[in-house]
Amino acid sequence: MTKFDFREIVASTPTWEQVAEQYQKFEADLDAAVDLDVCLAVIRRWDNYLRPIKTWYALVHLRFNQNTFDEECKKNREYSDQLEPKLTELAVRMKRRILQSPHRDGIAEKLGATAISLWQAQSTTYDPAIEEDMVVELQLEAEYNELTASAKIPFRNATYSISDIAKFGEEVDHKLRYEARKATWQWFADNGESLDRIFSQLVQVRTKMAKKMGFEDFVGLAYQRMCRIDYDRDEVARFRAAVREQVVPLTVELRKRQAQRLNLEKLYEWDLPLHDLRTNPKPLGNYDWMLDRAQMMFDAMGHGLDSFFRKLRDARLMDLEIRTGKAGGGFCTAFPSYGLPYVFANFNGTKEDVRVFTHEIGHAFQFYQSRHQPLVDYLWPTFESCEIHSMSLEFLTWPHMEKFFGNDAERFRQMHLAEALLFLPYGVAVDHYQHQVYENPQASSAERHGMWQEMERLYLPGRDYGDMDYPAKGGRWQLQRHIYLHPFYYIDYALAQTVALQLWERSLKDFPEAINAYTALCRRGGELPFKTLARTAGLNDPFEPAALAGAVTAACKSLQV
Ligand code: ZN
Repeated sequence: MTKFDFREIVASTPTWEQVAEQYQKFEADLDAAVDLDVCLAVIRRWDNYLRPIKTWYALVHLRFNQNTFDEECKKNREYSDQLEPKLTELAVRMKRRILQSPHRDGIAEKLGATAISLWQAQSTTYDPAIEEDMVVELQLEAEYNELTASAKIPFRNATYSISDIAKFGEEVDHKLRYEARKATWQWFADNGESLDRIFSQLVQVRTKMAKKMGFEDFVGLAYQRMCRIDYDRDEVARFRAAVREQVVPLTVELRKRQAQRLNLEKLYEWDLPLHDLRTNPKPLGNYDWMLDRAQMMFDAMGHGLDSFFRKLRDARLMDLEIRTGKAGGGFCTAFPSYGLPYVFANFNGTKEDVRVFTHEIGHAFQFYQSRHQPLVDYLWPTFESCEIHSMSLEFLTWPHMEKFFGNDAERFRQMHLAEALLFLPYGVAVDHYQHQVYENPQASSAERHGMWQEMERLYLPGRDYGDMDYPAKGGRWQLQRHIYLHPFYYIDYALAQTVALQLWERSLKDFPEAINAYTALCRRGGELPFKTLARTAGLNDPFEPAALAGAVTAACKSLQV
C-alpha cells in the first residue's frame, strides 16, 4: 500500500456564487425543518460542506507562508482575502438563523451549549457593512508578513532572515551577540516608517469595523472574534495585575542571577537569551537526525503520539527548515476534510527548535485527536485552550530531552522552566499594550512607541537596549508578529502557561496520570470553553488566584528561587 502524501491533499477553489447558492439551500432547509432531527441533519450537512472549504483556505495560506515571493501563491491568497468576508457573511447568517430556530434548545442539548455560545459570539463580529474593511485588514496583515519575510539582514559577510539571525543570541561570544542584535534592530530602524504606517492603518481599520459593529472600541470586537465566551476584559486585567505582583519580582531575581552567572554587572537586551557562560544547549544533530530522535521520543511516550508522529512524517505534513521567502514564526494548521494537521516552523539550529517543535506537535496532536468531533467549530478549541495542548507537550517531553541535547538536557530543562516564568510578564505586557493601543486609536506612532516603553517599565523592569536606538525608543513591539497579524492573541499564551505549569508539576509526581489527563484534554477539542476544559483535566483556570500562585511556587522551587 502506498503511503498518503501531503501532495495528495486537494481542495477545489470555491466561488462566491456556488457557495451562496448552497447556503440558500441550507437556509431554506433549516426554515422548513419540521423537527429537531431534521434541523440537526441540516446542520450536519452544512458542517460537512464547510470542511473542504476550510481545507482549501488552510492550503492557500500555508502555501503563501511557505513562499511569500511566489506570485501564484500570492494571487491565491489575495483571492481568498477577497472571498473571506463574503464567506463569513454567509456563515454568520446561517448561525443567526440557527440561534433563532425554535429547536435551539434541542440543538444545544445534542451538540453542546458551547456551539451556541460560539455562534452567538461569532454572529456579533460580522456585517456586510465591514466587508471592504475586512479585506483591507487582511491585505495590511499580508503586507507586514511579506515585509518581514523579505528581510535580508547583512551580518558578517552573509545575509540572514529575522528568524535565522536570532540564533546568535544564544552564543557565548559577547561581540557576536551584540553585533547580531544591532544588525537586527538596524533592519527595524530602516523599515520603521513602513512598520509604523502598516500598524497605524491596521489600528484605524480595526477601530472603524468595531464602531460599525456597535462596539465602543476594537477590544470588544476582538474579544468576540477570539470567541472569549467565558471570561471578559476585567478578568484579564486582574490576571495581568496578578502577574505583575507575583511574577515580576521573581523575574527580577532570575535576571540578577543570570547576570551573575554571565559575570556581567547588568544584562543588556542582547544578553537575555544566554543563561550562563556556555553557549546554550543545541540539538546535537541535523534536521533528519532531529526527526529520527523525535520518533524515538514519541515511540517511548506512546499514548497515540507514536503512530501520530509516524503518520505526520511519512505524509510530509511538516515544513520546518528555514528558507528565503518563507514567512517567519511557527504555526500549526489543518485540513478538516482529511482530518490531518500540518506543522510549519523555521529551525535555526538552537534549542528553540526543540521547544517550537514540541509546541507545534502539541497543537497538531490535539487536532488529530479531536478530528472526529461532530462540528468543525469543535475541531480546535479557542486559542488559549489550544495553547494548553502545545505548552503542555513542551513539558511532557522533558524526560526525553537527553535524546536531543545529550549531557546538556538538564541545562535545557532549567532554561525552559526559567523562560516559562520569564515569559509571563512579557506575555501580559503584549496584551496590556494592545488594550492601550485600541483604547486610544487616535494616538500617533510616536505615542504608541511611548506606550510600549511604559509596558516595559511595568512588566520588564531593567530592560536595557544600550546604544540600540530603535528599541530603546520603544520599537521592540514591532518584532512581535501577533500584534500585527493576530490582535489580542497573546494573553492566551500566558493563560495557557499557567495551566501547563500545573500539568508539568503533576507530571513530576505522577507522569502516567498527567499524560492521560493530557490526551483526554486533546480529545475534547473545543467541545467546552476554556475554564471548563481546564477543570475537566483537574487543573485550576488561571483566573482563580490559586492557579498562578501554585504554578509559580512550584516552578520557583524547582529553580531554587
Ligand atoms: Zn501555539
